[in-house]
Amino acid sequence: MSFIETDEQQALRGAVAQLGAKYGYEYSTAKARADESLTELWAEVGGLGYLGVNLPEEYGGGGQGMYELAIVQEELSAAGCGLLMMVVSPAICGTVISRFGTDEQKGRWLPGLADGSSIMAFGITEPDAGSNSHRITTTARRDGSDWLLSGQKVFISGVDVADNVLIICRTEDARTGTLKPVLLVVPTDSHGFEKTKIEMDLVAPDNQYQLFMEDVRLPADALVGQEDAAIAQLFAGLNPERIMASAYAVGMGRYAIDKGAGYAREREVWGKPIGTHQGVSHPLAQTHIELEMAKLMMQKAATLYDGGLDIEAGEAANMAKYAAAEAAVKAVDAAVQTHGGNGLASEYGLGTLIAASRLMRIAPVSREMILNFVAQHSLGLPKSY
Ligand SMILES: Cc1cc2nc3c(=O)[nH]c(=O)nc-3n(C[C@H](O)[C@H](O)[C@H](O)COP(=O)(O)OP(=O)(O)OC[C@H]3O[C@@H](n4cnc5c(N)ncnc54)[C@H](O)[C@@H]3O)c2cc1C
Repeated sequence: MSFIETDEQQALRGAVAQLGAKYGYEYSTAKARADESLTELWAEVGGLGYLGVNLPEEYGGGGQGMYELAIVQEELSAAGCGLLMMVVSPAICGTVISRFGTDEQKGRWLPGLADGSSIMAFGITEPDAGSNSHRITTTARRDGSDWLLSGQKVFISGVDVADNVLIICRTEDARTGTLKPVLLVVPTDSHGFEKTKIEMDLVAPDNQYQLFMEDVRLPADALVGQEDAAIAQLFAGLNPERIMASAYAVGMGRYAIDKGAGYAREREVWGKPIGTHQGVSHPLAQTHIELEMAKLMMQKAATLYDGGLDIEAGEAANMAKYAAAEAAVKAVDAAVQTHGGNGLASEYGLGTLIAASRLMRIAPVSREMILNFVAQHSLGLPKSY
């Protein structure tokens, strides 16, 4: 791993930052308040090849890695218009299909995910299982060569804009016990597939859904990868998820600190800029350091992942996600505090980030589950649950 990005990576970072500046927080927040999706931005990011930068070239992607996809996410987020569905569509679903799909499946789904003309949501969370994925009960059973899928999912992002959802379920034979996940691509217009929007106190352009599936009939080749070995396939998708969530959080933190520092340089109430007071400047400086450290861990995770080291990337991706979420929450808090009353005034573009940054501590994996992972796997401590 080099601390110096290649010319191509620097060019990508610069180009995405420029694109982000064209849209920015105001565009994203206005869309969210109008209950609209970031359609124009998504289409432009896809059209320029940034959405599929990690996907194989022969299927319309850029042939690069998670490092580059994280650059795209971080820079958009730092401009105030991160794309949550990038965590899901090209990162999780695109990766799983690229790595474990058949040639036919790759040809069917990847070009659309790469140029953004098709979006794939990702559904693992269930109402009664929550963080304990081993308790999921959504079940696929064979009917001839078809699958019949039944069950429920909750908090599934972007189902309204998705053509398909990659659903994590069990087979009928493995309905209980340690999860042997099965990964099925389910078209959102399938008979028996219903979605209900969950009202959230988040000002975000992406909607969350509860899904109800009752005997949804799917062809045999809806199954991605092996029926029996899918735990490794699932984890191959979860590392990119954590790296991309880190990029989203690091970018959001950068956006907040940038705003906070800008305001602290300008605003005067005692005849000099408020940034002169260390009570204002230190929290900004401290979180700037913490964001940089989180970013380094994210880059390490992406480098390990792109180098094919899934296990090592797993530890780093979890640590990066933890560090990035904590830093983002602190960065937004420091920036809001720096703004005084203006921190909550819509014009200053920060207030909505209080809930958005807080979300980063909960999803896609909570801080407690990461601490469990690190306690157990990095420190060899007993499992507590
Ligand atoms: C906006 C949003 C978007 C989302 N998008 C998606 C999506 O697209 N697809 C998808 O599948 N899911 C999605 N999720 C779900 C998300 O991954 C879960 O909310 C998250 O994993 C936590 O699960 P839970 O909400 O069921 O909390 P619970 O599992 O009920 O946990 C509640 C609290 O208890 C803690 N806890 C639970 N078990 C332990 C333990 N063993 N030790 C210590 N603490 C513990 C948790 O950390 C948490 O703080 C989304 C959630 C949100 C809010």
